[in-house]
Amino acid sequence: MDRSYLEWPFFTKEHVDFARRLDAFSRDRLNDIGSDHDDSDAGLDRTCQEIARRLGAAGFLSACVVEAAGGAFDLRRLCLGREILASHHGLADFVFSMQGLGTGPISLFGTEEQRKRYLPAVVRGENIAAFALSEPNAGSDVASMTTKAVRDGTHYVLNGTKTWISNGGIAAHYVVFASTGEAPGAKGLSAFIVDADTPGLKIAERVRVIAPHPLATLKFEDCRVPLSTLVGKPGDGFKVAMGTLDVFRTTVGAAALGFARRALDEALDRVVQRDVFGKKLSTFQLTQAKLADMGVGVDAAALLVYRAAWTRDTAKRRITREASMAKLYATETAQTVIDMAVQLFGGMGVVSGQAVETLYREIRALRLYEGTSEIQRLVIARKLLES
Ligand SMILES: Cc1cc2nc3c(=O)[nH]c(=O)nc-3n(C[C@H](O)[C@H](O)[C@H](O)COP(=O)(O)OP(=O)(O)OC[C@H]3O[C@@H](n4cnc5c(N)ncnc54)[C@H](O)[C@@H]3O)c2cc1C
Repeated sequence: MDRSYLEWPFFTKEHVDFARRLDAFSRDRLNDIGSDHDDSDAGLDRTCQEIARRLGAAGFLSACVVEAAGGAFDLRRLCLGREILASHHGLADFVFSMQGLGTGPISLFGTEEQRKRYLPAVVRGENIAAFALSEPNAGSDVASMTTKAVRDGTHYVLNGTKTWISNGGIAAHYVVFASTGEAPGAKGLSAFIVDADTPGLKIAERVRVIAPHPLATLKFEDCRVPLSTLVGKPGDGFKVAMGTLDVFRTTVGAAALGFARRALDEALDRVVQRDVFGKKLSTFQLTQAKLADMGVGVDAAALLVYRAAWTRDTAKRRITREASMAKLYATETAQTVIDMAVQLFGGMGVVSGQAVETLYREIRALRLYEGTSEIQRLVIARKLLES
Protein backbone atom coordinates (compact mmCIF):
# COMPACT_ATOMS: atom_id res chain seq x y z
CA MET A 1 0.00 0.00 0.00
CA ASP A 2 1.22 3.51 -0.80
CA ARG A 3 2.71 5.03 2.35
CA SER A 4 4.71 7.70 0.53
CA TYR A 5 2.70 10.37 2.36
CA LEU A 6 4.84 9.57 5.40
CA GLU A 7 7.52 11.69 3.67
CA TRP A 8 5.29 14.78 3.97
CA PRO A 9 6.60 17.55 6.23
CA PHE A 10 3.71 17.07 8.69
CA PHE A 11 5.49 14.11 10.32
CA THR A 12 8.48 13.63 12.61
CA LYS A 13 10.66 10.54 12.69
CA GLU A 14 8.62 9.26 15.67
CA HIS A 15 5.41 9.47 13.65
CA VAL A 16 6.96 7.54 10.79
CA ASP A 17 8.29 4.86 13.18
CA PHE A 18 4.89 4.58 14.84
CA ALA A 19 3.15 4.21 11.47
CA ARG A 20 5.57 1.56 10.24
CA ARG A 21 5.36 -0.45 13.48
CA LEU A 22 1.55 -0.35 13.43
CA ASP A 23 1.49 -1.35 9.77
CA ALA A 24 3.69 -4.38 10.53
CA PHE A 25 1.66 -5.23 13.65
CA SER A 26 -1.59 -5.11 11.66
CA ARG A 27 -0.19 -7.50 9.06
CA ASP A 28 1.30 -9.93 11.61
CA ARG A 29 -1.01 -9.76 14.62
CA LEU A 30 -4.46 -8.97 13.21
CA ASN A 31 -4.57 -11.12 10.10
CA ASP A 32 -5.75 -14.21 11.98
CA ILE A 33 -8.81 -12.25 13.14
CA GLY A 34 -9.72 -11.40 9.54
CA SER A 35 -12.98 -9.77 8.52
CA ASP A 36 -14.92 -13.05 8.74
CA HIS A 37 -15.09 -13.00 12.54
CA ASP A 38 -18.20 -14.27 14.32
CA ASP A 39 -20.79 -11.48 13.89
CA SER A 40 -23.09 -12.50 16.75
CA ASP A 41 -23.18 -10.03 19.67
CA ALA A 42 -21.06 -12.36 21.79
CA GLY A 43 -18.67 -12.99 18.88
CA LEU A 44 -18.22 -9.25 18.23
CA ASP A 45 -17.65 -8.61 21.92
CA ARG A 46 -14.97 -11.30 22.13
CA THR A 47 -13.26 -10.07 18.96
CA CYS A 48 -13.16 -6.46 20.17
CA GLN A 49 -11.84 -7.49 23.58
CA GLU A 50 -9.13 -9.57 21.94
CA ILE A 51 -8.12 -6.74 19.59
CA ALA A 52 -7.96 -4.33 22.57
CA ARG A 53 -5.72 -6.75 24.46
CA ARG A 54 -3.37 -7.16 21.50
CA LEU A 55 -3.18 -3.42 20.77
CA GLY A 56 -2.65 -2.75 24.48
CA ALA A 57 0.05 -5.39 24.92
CA ALA A 58 1.92 -3.97 21.92
CA GLY A 59 1.76 -0.47 23.45
CA PHE A 60 -0.33 1.18 20.69
CA LEU A 61 -3.20 2.27 22.94
CA SER A 62 -0.95 4.76 24.72
CA ALA A 63 -1.61 7.00 21.69
CA CYS A 64 -5.27 7.22 22.80
CA VAL A 65 -4.75 8.56 26.32
CA VAL A 66 -3.18 11.88 27.23
CA GLU A 67 -0.94 10.80 30.10
CA ALA A 68 0.41 7.70 28.44
CA ALA A 69 1.00 9.79 25.31
CA GLY A 70 3.29 12.10 27.24
CA GLY A 71 0.89 14.70 28.64
CA ALA A 72 -0.89 15.84 25.49
CA PHE A 73 -2.67 14.23 22.57
CA ASP A 74 -0.48 13.88 19.55
CA LEU A 75 -3.21 14.20 16.96
CA ARG A 76 -0.95 13.16 14.10
CA ARG A 77 -0.22 9.89 15.89
CA LEU A 78 -3.92 9.31 16.60
CA CYS A 79 -4.77 9.96 12.95
CA LEU A 80 -1.99 7.70 11.67
CA GLY A 81 -3.25 5.03 14.08
CA ARG A 82 -6.77 5.20 12.74
CA GLU A 83 -5.75 5.46 9.10
CA ILE A 84 -3.43 2.48 9.22
CA LEU A 85 -5.75 0.26 11.26
CA ALA A 86 -8.72 1.16 9.02
CA SER A 87 -6.71 0.21 5.94
CA HIS A 88 -6.19 -3.27 7.41
CA HIS A 89 -9.15 -4.03 9.66
CA GLY A 90 -12.27 -1.92 10.30
CA LEU A 91 -12.99 -3.44 13.68
CA ALA A 92 -9.45 -2.78 14.90
CA ASP A 93 -9.85 0.88 13.95
CA PHE A 94 -13.14 0.92 15.87
CA VAL A 95 -11.51 -0.52 19.02
CA PHE A 96 -8.56 1.90 18.84
CA SER A 97 -10.79 4.93 18.27
CA MET A 98 -13.20 4.13 21.11
CA GLN A 99 -10.41 3.67 23.65
CA GLY A 100 -9.62 7.31 22.81
CA LEU A 101 -13.12 8.78 22.52
CA GLY A 102 -14.38 6.90 25.60
CA THR A 103 -11.59 8.33 27.74
CA GLY A 104 -11.15 11.66 25.90
CA PRO A 105 -13.22 13.64 28.45
CA ILE A 106 -11.18 12.14 31.32
CA SER A 107 -7.89 12.77 29.52
CA LEU A 108 -8.78 16.37 28.67
CA PHE A 109 -10.99 17.52 31.56
CA GLY A 110 -10.72 14.90 34.34
CA THR A 111 -9.06 15.18 37.74
CA GLU A 112 -5.74 13.55 38.56
CA GLU A 113 -7.64 10.94 40.60
CA GLN A 114 -10.02 10.12 37.74
CA ARG A 115 -7.11 9.76 35.32
CA LYS A 116 -5.25 7.42 37.69
CA ARG A 117 -8.33 5.32 38.28
CA TYR A 118 -9.60 4.90 34.72
CA LEU A 119 -6.83 5.39 32.17
CA PRO A 120 -4.15 2.74 32.84
CA ALA A 121 -6.43 -0.29 32.31
CA VAL A 122 -7.70 1.26 29.06
CA VAL A 123 -4.12 1.76 27.83
CA ARG A 124 -3.35 -1.90 28.63
CA GLY A 125 -6.45 -2.95 26.67
CA GLU A 126 -7.94 -4.65 29.72
CA ASN A 127 -10.86 -2.26 30.10
CA ILE A 128 -13.04 -0.94 27.29
CA ALA A 129 -14.27 2.67 27.22
CA ALA A 130 -17.47 4.35 25.92
CA PHE A 131 -18.87 7.84 25.27
CA ALA A 132 -22.62 8.28 25.86
CA LEU A 133 -23.95 11.54 24.43
CA SER A 134 -26.69 10.69 21.89
CA GLU A 135 -30.32 10.02 22.73
CA PRO A 136 -33.29 8.82 20.67
CA ASN A 137 -34.45 12.45 20.26
CA ALA A 138 -31.13 14.26 20.64
CA GLY A 139 -28.45 13.40 18.07
CA SER A 140 -27.33 16.44 16.07
CA ASP A 141 -29.19 18.68 18.51
CA VAL A 142 -27.22 17.62 21.59
CA ALA A 143 -28.59 20.40 23.82
CA SER A 144 -32.11 18.98 23.62
CA MET A 145 -31.14 15.87 25.61
CA THR A 146 -33.61 14.75 28.25
CA THR A 147 -31.45 12.48 30.43
CA LYS A 148 -31.37 14.23 33.79
CA ALA A 149 -28.95 14.16 36.71
CA VAL A 150 -30.36 15.56 39.94
CA ARG A 151 -28.15 16.35 42.93
CA ASP A 152 -29.03 14.37 46.08
CA GLY A 153 -26.54 15.13 48.86
CA THR A 154 -23.21 13.52 48.03
CA HIS A 155 -24.60 11.94 44.84
CA TYR A 156 -26.26 12.69 41.51
CA VAL A 157 -29.21 10.54 40.42
CA LEU A 158 -29.40 9.82 36.67
CA ASN A 159 -32.58 9.00 34.76
CA GLY A 160 -32.99 8.70 30.99
CA THR A 161 -32.01 6.85 27.81
CA LYS A 162 -28.86 6.98 25.69
CA THR A 163 -28.69 5.32 22.30
CA TRP A 164 -26.16 4.47 19.56
CA ILE A 165 -23.59 3.91 22.29
CA SER A 166 -20.55 2.19 20.81
CA ASN A 167 -19.10 -0.45 23.13
CA GLY A 168 -22.45 -0.54 24.96
CA GLY A 169 -22.44 -3.92 26.69
CA ILE A 170 -18.67 -4.40 26.91
CA ALA A 171 -17.46 -1.09 28.32
CA ALA A 172 -16.13 -1.00 31.88
CA HIS A 173 -17.21 2.63 32.16
CA TYR A 174 -19.30 5.17 30.24
CA VAL A 175 -18.75 8.94 30.11
CA VAL A 176 -22.39 10.03 30.26
CA PHE A 177 -23.77 13.49 29.50
CA ALA A 178 -26.92 14.63 31.29
CA SER A 179 -28.92 17.76 31.91
CA THR A 180 -28.21 19.25 35.35
CA GLY A 181 -30.10 22.48 34.70
CA GLU A 182 -27.57 25.17 35.77
CA ALA A 183 -28.84 27.16 32.75
CA PRO A 184 -31.16 26.42 29.81
CA GLY A 185 -29.93 24.16 26.98
CA ALA A 186 -26.23 23.61 26.32
CA LYS A 187 -25.08 25.53 29.41
CA GLY A 188 -27.00 23.20 31.72
CA LEU A 189 -25.32 19.88 30.86
CA SER A 190 -22.75 17.94 32.89
CA ALA A 191 -20.54 14.90 32.28
CA PHE A 192 -20.21 11.90 34.60
CA ILE A 193 -18.14 8.71 34.64
CA VAL A 194 -20.51 5.83 35.28
CA ASP A 195 -19.05 2.38 36.01
CA ALA A 196 -20.81 -0.33 34.03
CA ASP A 197 -21.84 -2.21 37.18
CA THR A 198 -23.52 0.80 38.84
CA PRO A 199 -27.04 -0.20 39.98
CA GLY A 200 -29.68 1.50 37.83
CA LEU A 201 -27.63 1.35 34.60
CA LYS A 202 -28.73 -1.34 32.21
CA ILE A 203 -28.25 -2.31 28.58
CA ALA A 204 -31.79 -1.99 27.20
CA GLU A 205 -31.00 -3.49 23.79
CA ARG A 206 -28.20 -4.14 21.35
CA VAL A 207 -28.41 -2.32 18.01
CA ARG A 208 -27.40 -4.06 14.76
CA VAL A 209 -25.89 -1.90 12.00
CA ILE A 210 -24.63 -2.65 8.48
CA ALA A 211 -21.00 -2.86 9.64
CA PRO A 212 -21.58 -4.52 13.01
CA HIS A 213 -19.74 -3.51 16.15
CA PRO A 214 -20.87 -3.54 19.80
CA LEU A 215 -23.59 -0.87 19.93
CA ALA A 216 -26.40 -0.46 22.46
CA THR A 217 -29.16 1.57 23.99
CA LEU A 218 -28.59 2.28 27.70
CA LYS A 219 -31.22 3.01 30.32
CA PHE A 220 -30.60 4.91 33.54
CA GLU A 221 -33.17 4.36 36.26
CA ASP A 222 -32.39 6.10 39.56
CA CYS A 223 -28.72 5.46 38.88
CA ARG A 224 -26.75 7.03 41.76
CA VAL A 225 -23.19 8.21 41.16
CA PRO A 226 -20.98 10.07 43.66
CA LEU A 227 -20.02 13.73 43.13
CA SER A 228 -16.47 12.56 42.45
CA THR A 229 -17.65 11.14 39.09
CA LEU A 230 -18.31 14.62 37.67
CA VAL A 231 -15.94 15.47 34.81
CA GLY A 232 -15.27 19.20 35.00
CA LYS A 233 -17.72 21.41 36.87
CA PRO A 234 -21.52 21.19 36.89
CA GLY A 235 -22.66 22.90 33.67
CA ASP A 236 -19.41 22.10 31.82
CA GLY A 237 -20.87 19.10 29.95
CA PHE A 238 -21.26 20.76 26.54
CA LYS A 239 -17.74 22.17 26.73
CA VAL A 240 -16.41 18.71 27.67
CA ALA A 241 -18.30 17.02 24.82
CA MET A 242 -17.33 19.56 22.15
CA GLY A 243 -13.72 19.84 23.37
CA THR A 244 -13.42 16.07 23.05
CA LEU A 245 -15.11 15.93 19.63
CA ASP A 246 -12.85 18.73 18.42
CA VAL A 247 -9.92 16.34 18.85
CA PHE A 248 -11.56 13.13 17.67
CA ARG A 249 -13.47 14.49 14.66
CA THR A 250 -10.25 14.74 12.65
CA THR A 251 -9.56 11.08 13.41
CA VAL A 252 -12.88 10.09 11.78
CA GLY A 253 -11.52 11.68 8.61
CA ALA A 254 -8.33 9.66 9.10
CA ALA A 255 -10.27 6.40 9.36
CA ALA A 256 -12.20 7.27 6.18
CA LEU A 257 -8.86 7.91 4.51
CA GLY A 258 -7.65 4.45 5.54
CA PHE A 259 -10.78 2.84 4.07
CA ALA A 260 -10.38 4.85 0.83
CA ARG A 261 -6.70 3.98 0.51
CA ARG A 262 -7.52 0.30 0.88
CA ALA A 263 -10.27 0.58 -1.76
CA LEU A 264 -7.86 2.22 -4.21
CA ASP A 265 -5.30 -0.50 -3.53
CA GLU A 266 -7.85 -3.27 -4.11
CA ALA A 267 -9.02 -1.57 -7.32
CA LEU A 268 -5.47 -1.22 -8.66
CA ASP A 269 -4.81 -4.92 -8.07
CA ARG A 270 -8.05 -5.89 -9.76
CA VAL A 271 -7.78 -3.79 -12.92
CA VAL A 272 -4.32 -5.07 -13.83
CA GLN A 273 -5.52 -8.67 -13.55
CA ARG A 274 -9.01 -8.56 -15.02
CA ASP A 275 -9.37 -9.24 -18.76
CA VAL A 276 -12.25 -7.62 -20.67
CA PHE A 277 -12.68 -7.44 -24.44
CA GLY A 278 -9.31 -9.15 -24.84
CA LYS A 279 -7.36 -6.56 -22.85
CA LYS A 280 -6.61 -5.73 -19.23
CA LEU A 281 -9.26 -3.53 -17.62
CA SER A 282 -6.48 -1.11 -16.63
CA THR A 283 -5.74 -0.26 -20.30
CA PHE A 284 -9.10 1.43 -20.91
CA GLN A 285 -9.14 5.20 -20.50
CA LEU A 286 -12.49 5.14 -18.69
CA THR A 287 -10.84 2.93 -16.06
CA GLN A 288 -7.84 5.23 -15.84
CA ALA A 289 -10.09 8.26 -15.35
CA LYS A 290 -11.69 6.52 -12.37
CA LEU A 291 -8.30 5.61 -10.91
CA ALA A 292 -7.09 9.19 -11.32
CA ASP A 293 -10.14 10.61 -9.55
CA MET A 294 -9.72 8.08 -6.74
CA GLY A 295 -6.05 8.96 -6.32
CA VAL A 296 -6.68 12.72 -6.25
CA GLY A 297 -9.50 12.25 -3.71
CA VAL A 298 -7.29 10.16 -1.43
CA ASP A 299 -4.40 12.63 -1.52
CA ALA A 300 -6.64 15.68 -1.04
CA ALA A 301 -8.34 14.01 1.94
CA ALA A 302 -4.94 13.13 3.42
CA LEU A 303 -3.78 16.74 3.06
CA LEU A 304 -6.84 18.04 4.92
CA VAL A 305 -6.62 15.42 7.67
CA TYR A 306 -2.92 15.90 8.37
CA ARG A 307 -3.15 19.69 7.97
CA ALA A 308 -5.74 19.69 10.80
CA ALA A 309 -3.68 17.33 13.00
CA TRP A 310 -0.41 19.20 12.39
CA THR A 311 -2.06 22.55 13.15
CA ARG A 312 -3.40 21.34 16.49
CA ASP A 313 -0.12 19.69 17.46
CA THR A 314 2.12 22.59 16.53
CA ALA A 315 -0.01 25.74 16.95
CA LYS A 316 -1.67 24.22 20.08
CA ARG A 317 -4.99 25.89 19.35
CA ARG A 318 -8.53 24.71 18.67
CA ILE A 319 -9.03 23.51 15.10
CA THR A 320 -12.83 23.54 14.80
CA ARG A 321 -12.83 24.65 11.14
CA GLU A 322 -9.91 22.45 10.05
CA ALA A 323 -11.33 19.37 11.82
CA SER A 324 -14.78 19.79 10.27
CA MET A 325 -13.26 20.29 6.80
CA ALA A 326 -11.12 17.16 7.24
CA LYS A 327 -14.04 15.04 8.46
CA LEU A 328 -16.50 16.28 5.83
CA TYR A 329 -14.18 15.95 2.85
CA ALA A 330 -12.48 12.70 3.84
CA THR A 331 -15.69 10.82 4.69
CA GLU A 332 -17.64 12.01 1.63
CA THR A 333 -14.68 11.34 -0.67
CA ALA A 334 -14.05 7.89 0.81
CA GLN A 335 -17.67 6.97 0.11
CA THR A 336 -17.19 7.95 -3.56
CA VAL A 337 -13.79 6.24 -3.87
CA ILE A 338 -15.12 3.01 -2.37
CA ASP A 339 -18.16 3.11 -4.65
CA MET A 340 -15.84 3.47 -7.66
CA ALA A 341 -13.82 0.47 -6.43
CA VAL A 342 -17.01 -1.62 -6.19
CA GLN A 343 -17.88 -0.54 -9.74
CA LEU A 344 -14.45 -1.59 -11.02
CA PHE A 345 -14.91 -5.02 -9.42
CA GLY A 346 -18.19 -5.55 -11.28
CA GLY A 347 -20.41 -8.24 -9.74
CA MET A 348 -17.56 -9.40 -7.51
CA GLY A 349 -17.74 -6.02 -5.77
CA VAL A 350 -20.99 -6.83 -4.02
CA VAL A 351 -20.14 -10.38 -2.96
CA SER A 352 -20.24 -10.72 0.83
CA GLY A 353 -16.80 -10.86 2.34
CA GLN A 354 -14.97 -9.17 -0.57
CA ALA A 355 -12.77 -6.38 0.83
CA VAL A 356 -14.53 -3.68 -1.23
CA GLU A 357 -17.97 -4.95 -0.18
CA THR A 358 -16.93 -4.73 3.49
CA LEU A 359 -15.52 -1.23 2.94
CA TYR A 360 -18.79 -0.19 1.25
CA ARG A 361 -20.65 -1.04 4.47
CA GLU A 362 -17.95 0.23 6.83
CA ILE A 363 -17.65 3.74 5.43
CA ARG A 364 -21.32 4.71 5.68
CA ALA A 365 -21.60 5.44 9.41
CA LEU A 366 -18.58 7.78 9.34
CA ARG A 367 -20.66 10.38 7.48
CA LEU A 368 -23.09 10.30 10.44
CA TYR A 369 -21.31 9.85 13.74
CA GLU A 370 -19.43 12.56 15.63
CA GLY A 371 -21.49 15.10 13.70
CA THR A 372 -23.17 14.42 10.34
CA SER A 373 -21.86 15.93 7.10
CA GLU A 374 -24.62 18.55 7.29
CA ILE A 375 -23.50 19.56 10.79
CA GLN A 376 -19.87 19.82 9.57
CA ARG A 377 -21.04 22.13 6.76
CA LEU A 378 -22.87 24.33 9.29
CA VAL A 379 -19.73 24.52 11.46
CA ILE A 380 -17.47 25.36 8.50
CA ALA A 381 -19.84 28.05 7.22
CA ARG A 382 -20.16 29.58 10.70
CA LYS A 383 -16.38 29.76 11.03
CA LEU A 384 -16.00 31.28 7.55
CA LEU A 385 -18.64 33.90 8.28
CA GLU A 386 -17.03 34.71 11.64
CA SER A 387 -13.71 35.35 9.95
C1 LIG B 1 -22.49 3.45 14.03
C2 LIG B 1 -22.76 4.59 14.95
C3 LIG B 1 -22.05 4.70 16.13
C4 LIG B 1 -22.32 5.74 17.02
N1 LIG B 1 -21.65 5.81 18.21
C5 LIG B 1 -21.98 6.75 19.13
C6 LIG B 1 -21.37 6.78 20.42
O1 LIG B 1 -20.48 5.97 20.74
N2 LIG B 1 -21.79 7.70 21.32
C7 LIG B 1 -22.76 8.62 21.03
O2 LIG B 1 -23.08 9.43 21.89
N3 LIG B 1 -23.37 8.63 19.80
C8 LIG B 1 -23.00 7.72 18.85
N4 LIG B 1 -23.62 7.71 17.60
C9 LIG B 1 -24.69 8.66 17.32
C10 LIG B 1 -24.35 9.70 16.28
O3 LIG B 1 -23.44 10.63 16.80
C11 LIG B 1 -25.68 10.32 15.79
O4 LIG B 1 -26.34 9.32 15.03
C12 LIG B 1 -25.47 11.57 14.97
O5 LIG B 1 -25.00 12.61 15.76
C13 LIG B 1 -26.75 12.01 14.25
O6 LIG B 1 -27.82 12.10 15.15
P1 LIG B 1 -29.22 11.39 14.79
O7 LIG B 1 -28.94 9.98 14.40
O8 LIG B 1 -30.15 11.63 15.91
O9 LIG B 1 -29.73 12.13 13.48
P2 LIG B 1 -30.54 13.51 13.44
O10 LIG B 1 -29.90 14.51 14.33
O11 LIG B 1 -31.99 13.22 13.62
O12 LIG B 1 -30.30 13.96 11.94
C14 LIG B 1 -31.06 13.43 10.84
C15 LIG B 1 -30.65 14.18 9.57
O13 LIG B 1 -30.97 15.56 9.72
C16 LIG B 1 -29.82 16.33 9.45
N5 LIG B 1 -29.84 17.55 10.23
C17 LIG B 1 -29.84 17.69 11.57
N6 LIG B 1 -29.82 18.97 11.92
C18 LIG B 1 -29.79 19.69 10.77
C19 LIG B 1 -29.76 21.08 10.45
N7 LIG B 1 -29.70 22.00 11.39
N8 LIG B 1 -29.75 21.45 9.14
C20 LIG B 1 -29.78 20.51 8.16
N9 LIG B 1 -29.80 19.18 8.40
C21 LIG B 1 -29.80 18.78 9.69
C22 LIG B 1 -28.66 15.44 9.81
O14 LIG B 1 -27.47 15.86 9.18
C23 LIG B 1 -29.15 14.10 9.30
O15 LIG B 1 -28.91 14.00 7.92
C24 LIG B 1 -23.32 6.69 16.70
C25 LIG B 1 -24.03 6.57 15.49
C26 LIG B 1 -23.77 5.54 14.62
C27 LIG B 1 -24.56 5.45 13.35
